[in-house]
Amino acid sequence: MNIHEYQAKALLKEFGAPVASGVPVFEASEARAAAEALPGPLYVVKSQIHAGGRGKGKFKELGPDSKGGVRLARSIDEVVAFSEEMLGNTLVTKQTGDAGKQVNRLYIEDGADIDRELYLSILVDRTTGRNAFVVSTEGGMDIEAVAEETPEKILTLPIDPAAGVTEADCTRLCDALALDGDARQDGMQLFPILYKAYVETDMSLLEVNPLIVMTDGHLRVLDAKVSFDGNALFRHDDILALRDETEEDAKEIEASKHDLAYVALDGTIGCMVNGAGLAMATMDIIKLYGEEPANFLDVGGGASKEKVTAAFKIITADPNVKGILVNIFGGIMRCDVIAEGVIAAVKEVGLKVPLVVRLEGTNVELGKKLINESGLNVIAADDLDDAAQKIVNAVKG
Ligand code: GDP
Ligand code: MG
Repeated sequence: MNIHEYQAKALLKEFGAPVASGVPVFEASEARAAAEALPGPLYVVKSQIHAGGRGKGKFKELGPDSKGGVRLARSIDEVVAFSEEMLGNTLVTKQTGDAGKQVNRLYIEDGADIDRELYLSILVDRTTGRNAFVVSTEGGMDIEAVAEETPEKILTLPIDPAAGVTEADCTRLCDALALDGDARQDGMQLFPILYKAYVETDMSLLEVNPLIVMTDGHLRVLDAKVSFDGNALFRHDDILALRDETEEDAKEIEASKHDLAYVALDGTIGCMVNGAGLAMATMDIIKLYGEEPANFLDVGGGASKEKVTAAFKIITADPNVKGILVNIFGGIMRCDVIAEGVIAAVKEVGLKVPLVVRLEGTNVELGKKLINESGLNVIAADDLDDAAQKIVNAVKG
């Protein structure tokens, strides 16, 4: 689960991290009072959407000359003008895709005078199986490009979970970020604070890009992107309350209500599969034959007919879906339950696109019989390769 920048900053502030004062705004009419509550004379008006690259983004409605989604304002009048221009409009950034995201919230912040922009994140390092800091002096910009072109400018520092962030770790991070004077003292304090926030709230990503050294020599968290581990949310009611469902994919919200492992994608072939590995393989083979999957969906082992029905409905409700591939290797999952779910869902919502079904495993004969006798227009397939070719051919029509 992701949260907005202003929520992430409020959370980090509770742990003691240095952030600017700021006020979230939902209506343009609130902008003046928000700015008046800040010291000035420099303000920042920041679009709150669950996507990065806002500064370099453009508003669809404002055309090619549009200013970005993060703007410096030098007066309260300018804060108000920017707020009116940004709220309700659609911001397109590198991370939103062409459709962009509607800006429904702004964060009006006290502006900082920046000396240097640094990069810092904490994430799960799969190589060491530990939480790790990733830092670079090249902040504020595209860290992926830095990783690609100048990987020597990035330090990945895994943290020993038993010891936590040690003084030696802090020293290495300070050195990598070339911090001295006040900034170095701030860093020695800040790194353990960020790590504590990350661990205690079960984050899966904490990205501060940029972490800045201000002209007064001190550090400040200028941007904050936070993702939480969905499997741990049950123990964080306060964090769940920060959820903004308008930022999430409606199909993924529906899927989460049914406890389905579902991720919406951009392709044309809807997939219903059991087992994450088989679901990945199914997506791969669809691509191999020249089409793109519309989703990742693992219905899991031992899913009920109701769950399968819900899953099938979510797939058919996606207007991008031009064909559906059901690929079940029934071990714990029974093929007849899958068949019943598919049939029930089709009866309820109809079937407007080709459907290829490949069943194998427990109760496969019964499953096939149910589908054959249902009167559904199903293309049967014998194995994964056959199934993938059939659905790709059907979609290409
Ligand atoms: P992003 O584009 O979505 O990553 O949004 P950021 O919060 O990172 O802001 C983008 C850029 O705006 C930063 O890299 C800074 O260069 C600039 N910026 C943001 N806040 C301030 C500020 O308080 N003062 C100054 N001078 N620049 C800022
Ligand atoms: Mg940023």
